[in-house]
Amino acid sequence: MKKRIVVALGGNALGNTPEEQQELVRQTAKPIADLIEDGHDVVIAHGNGPQVGMINVAFSSGQVPRMPFPECGAMSQGYIGFHLQNALREELLSRGIDRPVATIVTQVVVDKNDPAFEDPTKPIGKFFSKEEAEKVAAETGYVMKEDAGRGYRRVVASPKPVEVIENKTVEALIKDGQIVITVGGGGIPVIKDGNTLEGVAAVIDKDFASGVLAEMINADFLIILTAVEKIALNYGKQNETWLDQVSVADMEQYMTEGHFAPGSMLPKVEASVAFAKSGKGRVALVTSLERASSGIKGETGTHISL
Ligand code: ADP
Ligand code: MG
Repeated sequence: MKKRIVVALGGNALGNTPEEQQELVRQTAKPIADLIEDGHDVVIAHGNGPQVGMINVAFSSGQVPRMPFPECGAMSQGYIGFHLQNALREELLSRGIDRPVATIVTQVVVDKNDPAFEDPTKPIGKFFSKEEAEKVAAETGYVMKEDAGRGYRRVVASPKPVEVIENKTVEALIKDGQIVITVGGGGIPVIKDGNTLEGVAAVIDKDFASGVLAEMINADFLIILTAVEKIALNYGKQNETWLDQVSVADMEQYMTEGHFAPGSMLPKVEASVAFAKSGKGRVALVTSLERASSGIKGETGTHISL
């Protein structure tokens, strides 16, 4: 049966350099094309950590005007989308599937009163010495923090996504049979001020943003593709246990027991639980990129539902 699926791609789907990315997306396109070939409507979301970092560093040389961080995010969406949409187009055409693929510059509303803004924690861009960091902070107002003994870096907040601005565009394209790449890097964070959307220097977690998008477009599945085939309890320990089918209630219990690493697996679990909770029949699946197609058939991965 045809399902509406939001697929969130992790760092392993894109790599770290333009060459690596262009090569990797050819592999990434295959499991996504499998889902499309199976008859599903697929929307693609992705991370942008290394890419937006690279763009931000490039614009910190002093030789060109400093590029604001939301603009760096917009650039990363275009750069990643360019590679991804072409790789997917090619993979689909090679299977005789003629479906348009497009990337949308996507903005995600955050709340200006989100408590995350009071304590920015997400390091971005290059490393500075203490003296340089103080100089940059004085010039720009950036918040600089010491990063694990490696020097000083700018930190920005990681607020929760509230709303995806372009959701109607995404829906219209899905209805038309098109494949959409959206909420890249969690979306460009914007604050609503009347009719104005103002970009803010922040990083929205791509797993949370994908979950909000999935809810807004009434998806059946949120599939988070990462480097592991399943979510584990006691991950990396002697008594490690891989999870197959889990209820929201059980997953919430496991969260409180601290099984999921903050910053990596925890946001995936939180996003999955929130999506699964938002409606009966909605399923979140966490699995590896390679196993996406068998995951959705119920053969592998961790499935979370009410
Ligand atoms: P992505 O780029 O896909 O978001 P992350 O590195 O942020 O990837 O998160 C996925 C990683 O989380 C896995 O590769 C794994 O090493 C780690 N991880 C932490 N806790 C768990 C857990 N309980 N079960 C499985 N993987 C976990
Ligand atoms: Mg991650």
